[in-house]
Amino acid sequence: MNIVEILGKKRFGEVLTRDELSYSFGGYLDEKIKDYQMSALLMAICINGMTDEEIFDLVDIFISSGEILDLSNINGIKVDKHSTGGVGDKTTLIVAPIVAASGVVVPKMSGRGLGHTGGTIDKLESIPGFNVNLTKEEFINELAEVGMAITSQTEDLTPLDKVIYSLRDTTGTVSSIPLIAVSIMSKKIASGADKILIDIKVGNGALIKDMSEAEELKDLMIRIGDKYGREVRCLINNMDNPLGFCVGNALEVIEAMQVLRGKIKNNLLDVSIDIAANMISMGRNISYEEAEKVSQELLSSGKAYDKFLEFVKYQSGDIKGVKLSNHSIEVKAKRSGTINKIDALGVGELSCRLGAGRVNKEDEIDYSVGVIFSKGVGSHIEEGEVLARLYVKEDYDGEEDLNKFVTIE
Ligand code: URA
Repeated sequence: MNIVEILGKKRFGEVLTRDELSYSFGGYLDEKIKDYQMSALLMAICINGMTDEEIFDLVDIFISSGEILDLSNINGIKVDKHSTGGVGDKTTLIVAPIVAASGVVVPKMSGRGLGHTGGTIDKLESIPGFNVNLTKEEFINELAEVGMAITSQTEDLTPLDKVIYSLRDTTGTVSSIPLIAVSIMSKKIASGADKILIDIKVGNGALIKDMSEAEELKDLMIRIGDKYGREVRCLINNMDNPLGFCVGNALEVIEAMQVLRGKIKNNLLDVSIDIAANMISMGRNISYEEAEKVSQELLSSGKAYDKFLEFVKYQSGDIKGVKLSNHSIEVKAKRSGTINKIDALGVGELSCRLGAGRVNKEDEIDYSVGVIFSKGVGSHIEEGEVLARLYVKEDYDGEEDLNKFVTIE
């Protein structure tokens, strides 16, 4: 087989065989295919797309590049959750304890943030001592004992996704629907859950910018799930505005705890209940309405919050040690009116500049910095009233004009 011929075929929109896909992608993992050749193939896929047959073959190739986690010894239905990424998205920290408290097991392998979107693993690392690198045995034991566990994705799981994702990130090929579906579904299937809930974010702060692409991704992931005998449900949630009031790692853990304790009622709570209700409905085979009632009860009884504390303690986290920076700046509203929009992308990038996110994979982040809004979209604010507080590093000397990301009318 010849990589240049394969590139030529995809360039003209021809369908690649399983052997050709395996030769190219498998060869890339074995370092026989070069970065520039794989970059050209990814770009041709971005432009010309893939058939379902090609996509199913590629999911297979990704999965078999590593090991498949066997969770069959753990009793009950295992339901996993994945978000395509957004700004202020800390739903996993709220949803997983609600679902686990309902008796449905939640095995969750998560990633770190890159660019303006955050990652669950970074948020958990803002809790001193928290172990995000569980061994397979520790992960399985925690699932059996606590009913939930969150860990970094192991090196052994879909290693092909890791190398391809890095290359996509630097070649402008992240936003291809077939490549996103292959990346997410291969990881989820290899992680061993019986059922999968995908939260597709759409909007200016998300990877997917328009609704028709979100619908296309949704249908495709459900078809991949069918092929593998996994029930997949997809929700499509707006990401034009940040989720909740906080963006930044420690701030987001604190906000998640406040939601679990019933102290905050905002868009974050609504989205979290919707995701939890869908997962409980799948895991217990009950209606969405019944599952929603269960979620509300677990929140109001404090059982979901207790589950969160149990999980943090099990993974050696000291929740009392979560700290915000001692340095903060108040940002005041420049006019009176209703807050109509908070630009998620702008706020995500700002939070990154404050030190809460990475531009490059190897960047160190500061868990204690970020942004907390006093009010959300739809609220009235007076000129001069505090709109937000920025938590910054000690030596911070920037002048961030947060007002430019907020529309008050
Ligand atoms: N999340 C993933 O895991 N992979 C993608 O390609 C996009 C979002």
